[in-house]
Amino acid sequence: MPQLNKTHDPSLQSWVASANDGSTDFPIQNLPFASFRRRGSNEAMRGGVAIGDQILDLKAAAQSGVFSAEVQPALEAAAKDKLNEFMAMGKTAWSGLRAALSSALGAGSALEASLKGCLVPQAEAEYGMPCVVGDYTDFYASVYHATNIGALFRPDNPLLPNYKWIPIGYHGRSSSIGVSGQSFPRPCGQTKAPDAAEPSLGPCKRLDFELEMGVFIGAGNELGETIAIDDAEDHIFGMCLFNDWSARDIQAWEYQPLGPFLAKNFASTISPWIVTTEALAPFRAAFSHPAEDPQPLPYLDSDANNAEGGVDVALDVLIQTAAMREAGEAATSLATSNFKYSYWTMAQMVSHHSVNGCNMQPGDLLGTGTLSGPNAEQACAMIELTCGGKNPVTLPNGESRAFLEDGDTIVIRGFCQREGAARIGFGEAAGTVLPAKV
Ligand code: CA
Repeated sequence: MPQLNKTHDPSLQSWVASANDGSTDFPIQNLPFASFRRRGSNEAMRGGVAIGDQILDLKAAAQSGVFSAEVQPALEAAAKDKLNEFMAMGKTAWSGLRAALSSALGAGSALEASLKGCLVPQAEAEYGMPCVVGDYTDFYASVYHATNIGALFRPDNPLLPNYKWIPIGYHGRSSSIGVSGQSFPRPCGQTKAPDAAEPSLGPCKRLDFELEMGVFIGAGNELGETIAIDDAEDHIFGMCLFNDWSARDIQAWEYQPLGPFLAKNFASTISPWIVTTEALAPFRAAFSHPAEDPQPLPYLDSDANNAEGGVDVALDVLIQTAAMREAGEAATSLATSNFKYSYWTMAQMVSHHSVNGCNMQPGDLLGTGTLSGPNAEQACAMIELTCGGKNPVTLPNGESRAFLEDGDTIVIRGFCQREGAARIGFGEAAGTVLPAKV
């Protein structure tokens, strides 16, 4: 587990004034990474670190020549258009660059004059995928979501017997993962209504979101090697917000016996910023399974994982319909939850994923699965919020939704807050549904 150090000191201030207001997602204690350029420009994408409402352009910072020779290789790797090379360097390099950036952006830093010209306002930026995602795996780590969904798909047998033993997952598709701001056409697919004799092809009628978090692999493992649970966090670069858009009517017809396929691979949206595992150190949470549940097998069990394998990340999913957008109304909350409700920790997911010798690679993305909590208002997909569409949600402007309609924008936000630590946030992952291409 990353340890607390001087980069987490809540009293640290930055010479970038907007980082010090106490409400920004990006105080100097956060320092997340993204790939960006000025919006609408032909500039090359490059690495950046968020600080207040600004981005420190890492390519410009690397060219300024003011960083030490020791940290320069990590800085140059993080300055590239994709973070994979930096991710592959491992935690000593990540931690070294974080310490150098914390010092360089700190109030009173001698580098202020040199780095002032390396700032780009976030309001003027556009973002790309932060890394090449070679492989994407989606887990199913909320027992509440698994039980609620299972009850809708299999009323007589909601939670299958393997659920409390195995971190359930499936291999997804990385080509359709996009960064916040993504829009995509409503998917078409084969569906079969319960009372229909045969299936038919057409636009999805039960389009949904899934509030998840994403876990980015940093340093990988060789094919045939396993990652022990107490080493797993050394392989995790950081986390983002993640919306795993889902076509429930396509899913219901296609999912047996091999699981999710075209209901899941038409679009997935991540937040542009990757919050590093080290930045999350003040917000770790204890992990346990209820005493009456099966306890994890030894390869999924460790004292460190029990003590602080979880992470306390408050999550919010909001909707802005086309009518709301036209009326100038802000997005309104549909549900709130927390990553700490996950039935499995990040370390357990990584350890399980490699237990058969599967090689994880820098930039691989693990979705956590929909992070529904124990209460009804913590249901993090429309299918749960509306009981399979039976109880539509009424929005403040009088519109109602059973599932998503064309023009709807879904926004996911997340932040960490704890006494004695500086509040840090993840920014947002926003995506918009366009009409089907028929
Ligand atoms: Ca999912």
